[in-house]
Amino acid sequence: MHHRTALFLPALLCLAPAFAAPPVDHSGDGEPAFRALYKELVETNTSHSVGSCTLAAERMAAHLRAAGYAGEDVRLFSVPEAPKDGGLVARLAGTDPKEKGILLLAHIDVVEAHREDWTRDPFQFIEEDGYYYGRGVSDDKAMAAIFTDLMVRLKQEGYKPRRRITLALTCGEETSGVFNGADWLGRNHKDWIDADFAVNEGGGGDLDEQGQRINMGFEAAEKVYQDFQFESTNPGGHSSQPVPKNAMYDMSEALLRLSKHEFPAMLNDATRAYFGRMADIKGGETGAAMRALLANPQDEKANAIVSADKQWHSMLRTTCVATMINGGHAPNALAQRVDTNVNCRIYPGVPVDSVRDTLAKVVEGTGVTVTIKEPRSTAVPTPKMDPRVLALVDKVSAEMFPGTPVLPMMTTGATDGIYITGAGIPTYGIEGMFSDPDLGHIHGLNERARVSEVQNGRRFHYKLVKGYTSN
Ligand SMILES: [Zn+2]
Repeated sequence: MHHRTALFLPALLCLAPAFAAPPVDHSGDGEPAFRALYKELVETNTSHSVGSCTLAAERMAAHLRAAGYAGEDVRLFSVPEAPKDGGLVARLAGTDPKEKGILLLAHIDVVEAHREDWTRDPFQFIEEDGYYYGRGVSDDKAMAAIFTDLMVRLKQEGYKPRRRITLALTCGEETSGVFNGADWLGRNHKDWIDADFAVNEGGGGDLDEQGQRINMGFEAAEKVYQDFQFESTNPGGHSSQPVPKNAMYDMSEALLRLSKHEFPAMLNDATRAYFGRMADIKGGETGAAMRALLANPQDEKANAIVSADKQWHSMLRTTCVATMINGGHAPNALAQRVDTNVNCRIYPGVPVDSVRDTLAKVVEGTGVTVTIKEPRSTAVPTPKMDPRVLALVDKVSAEMFPGTPVLPMMTTGATDGIYITGAGIPTYGIEGMFSDPDLGHIHGLNERARVSEVQNGRRFHYKLVKGYTSN
């Protein structure tokens, strides 16, 4: 498309200099080079068991160096304890050194994938019927490839941003308890990655069953995952002579109380923006109830209407639910011990200890004890929504997907965003890509991504990054 514009440009300028030529759109340029880079990244196995993020990072660094990044503008990092879990940080300096600019964050590790379970080789990049197939084509190598390719293109264009652009490719997102590059950077090298905000996975758009766009997501907050242990113990005895005090009944009483406990409704910048926009989309009684909640989160009537939806219920509060139970040791014995795992999704800004205290109060008098299980989650500050960033996402989205609303949200899932937000860099999930209702089978078999959406993502981030950094 830009070639046609370029051909007409001189003629237009000669004949009618008063008319400005339409802006040249380079956002989709270089597609074959992008595809090759994306393929190389997907075909580099980065699963924790047998793969290497370090190798993938080296391969991406080679593209950046070939484009002209040198010295401290492209760094590979790893720690001796986890030599295969390395990553990279690259930087395109801004002309204004006081500006921190934007951080592009993507994880390059993938969930395990076994050849025998998949229809196709999970580490072979395949394009078929409008989809890319392969482990990581969606989560999260599409964004990792889009960002790396973007850094390469901006350098090749000779782009001189006013605000700097930083890329971080990290490992360890998909496996808990291993070296996590985002966490490590946030703790040890914030200076390498510091930015006004970070763009991360999460917050993609949704397509319906027919492939129609429903809304573009903008993830502005994440709840915190934390497991708690409920425990009841009893001396036990022979089951032929039961006594009223019983470890299982104590636990039952505690869990029934938990089932009736509701944490108070809360709002933050992300959910205020979400319910504000959703109220307009839904209208009617539901829309009115959302507006009432925005005015007073403790409005009980409004709460009952909105919280009837399980997703909205969870967006409004901390939730805790029993997920695993273990108890007793023989069919003919009174239980000496019952353990229950209680999984909580804590509202950002609420301390883990205060949730433990609340749970302890809920079960008070049952004899059940409540403890925080390891790993203890990192505390996440209440996220601030930068209106400039939301306005920019609105603008780019309206340009590319007119009529599709952008919905800010708080997810109940977890990404590396918690570490970067925790390091003081607000992190938003902005994908610029839409996914099918099956979410592209991420983490599952035959992971896939729509070719058209990956191309949209490339254009989206090109526009977003230039939009933020050019002035
Ligand atoms: Zn991911």
